[in-house]
Amino acid sequence: MSTGVYIHVPFCKSRCSYCDFATDVYRNEESVERYVRALIGELRSQKSEVRSQEREGKSKKEKSELSDGEGLPSLGTHHSSLSPQSSVLSPGRLRSSQDDSSLSPQSSVLHAGRVRSDTIYLGGGTPSLLSPDQLGRILEAVRERFEIDDDAEITVEMNPATVTLDQLKEYRSLGVNRASFGVQTFDDRSLKLLARGHDADDARKTYELLRKAGFDNISFDLIGGLPHQKLDDWRANLEEAVAMSPEHISLYLLEIHEGTPLAEQVRSGRQPLPDEDLAAEMYEAMLERLDAAGYEQYEISNFSRPGRESRHNLKYWELDPVIGFGVSAHSFDGSRRWVNARDTLAYVRSVECGDSPVVEIDRLQEKQLKAEFAFLKLRLNRGLDLAEYRKRFGSELLAEFGEQLEEFREIGLIDIEDDRLRLTAKGRLYSNEVFGVFV
Ligand code: SF4
Repeated sequence: MSTGVYIHVPFCKSRCSYCDFATDVYRNEESVERYVRALIGELRSQKSEVRSQEREGKSKKEKSELSDGEGLPSLGTHHSSLSPQSSVLSPGRLRSSQDDSSLSPQSSVLHAGRVRSDTIYLGGGTPSLLSPDQLGRILEAVRERFEIDDDAEITVEMNPATVTLDQLKEYRSLGVNRASFGVQTFDDRSLKLLARGHDADDARKTYELLRKAGFDNISFDLIGGLPHQKLDDWRANLEEAVAMSPEHISLYLLEIHEGTPLAEQVRSGRQPLPDEDLAAEMYEAMLERLDAAGYEQYEISNFSRPGRESRHNLKYWELDPVIGFGVSAHSFDGSRRWVNARDTLAYVRSVECGDSPVVEIDRLQEKQLKAEFAFLKLRLNRGLDLAEYRKRFGSELLAEFGEQLEEFREIGLIDIEDDRLRLTAKGRLYSNEVFGVFV
């Protein structure tokens, strides 16, 4: 099992109306360069001590530093509803563990010789705002720290109208071989409403540039359930996506987050959302259309051409280790999760001072690991291997949760066959109900 490497790049060109992260716009080259230097500093750091007192101190300090603004935004992870990390790592699940006070997550995982890695994922924010020189220096630092497989999957998240052909060619020459592309919708009215800062033509042109630059592994992010969206509008989006024929498509229903401009517009009735029935119809239309176009659903929200699943994101659902670097980056080493400072300035300063940016660490108890194992694996169409559960935890999942699961089996949300527990197609629509069994 190889480790995944996640690099967080917090900057965005403009702010989307549905975004609930403490993102900020790309302000100037200087602040981005300072962040890149800190990122490289963290990757090269041999700092291993993370004392709980320091962590608590930093958590308090971060708040006071939020307001002093030096051109560095305070940020979270991109697309909370979209990121596999977010579903696993809601802040409430993370806490400082006193008994970890002498441990460094990084020391044991990352410094016992170079760790092998077969995926690197740059997420944001908008990592495509990095110049090739900056990206090259980051990847070089990753390669110094990890033993990267020759055929590693190296993904960069990109937004339309943030890249040029020359830049993409340079990205390719640096080893980037996968683009995760934030299309969201091909409807200009919706893009404006979402304040995406680009139109559908920008997405089409950027896609052409990606192909011209030699990208043969492209993933689209699309969002359904948008204000005013009708079933036919959604179908038109699917048609256009399928006609463009990316290798991978991630499809999500819009989530409304309190405090965002869109939440206010929805509350005031100016931007009516599709009701639950229509959302379910959209989900079903998506399954049908993508299946007919030869895409395989391998996860609740993810579809790919055969063999083009996201190898990096599969690590989250398979509960494999992923080590994150950068502001608010989350890591998991098989038994512990930890998270870096959530404010960019606090993150940069901690690295510049030679401190560890880790602010919280949690050693998962067996009960939590079992729960995560169950609901993450169930997100995958191949489901949960009951023998693997038995081997890993020395107990029977069905003996522990069977009674509640039986109710879901009776109403057709799950099935159990060949020692595997899976969500049915209907179960994927009501997955949160099933996941509730394990938490
Ligand atoms: S691109 Fe993503 S992270 Fe940036 S503002 Fe839009 S939704 Fe937020």
